[in-house]
Amino acid sequence: MGRLLILLLIVLFAVWLVRRAARRTTPPEAPPAARTSDELVRCMQCGVLLPRAEARMSAGALYCSDEHAKIGPMSGPGKR
Ligand SMILES: [Zn+2]
Repeated sequence: MGRLLILLLIVLFAVWLVRRAARRTTPPEAPPAARTSDELVRCMQCGVLLPRAEARMSAGALYCSDEHAKIGPMSGPGKR
């Protein structure tokens, strides 16, 4: 008798998991490509906000200008 109850619980749990997973994957809102143009990013050197399209990328960090990209982050990596 107890086994049947446990089996039922497992099946219910599995169904719940599948439904939850299906919900997460279905919403096709906000394509990632459309966001990048308007997004504001912060310069790692001076902290100014600027559109992502105008930012310079260097070593995985974003900067407002080529000069700041050369200088690098304001504080050292991992330091505060
Ligand atoms: Zn800067």
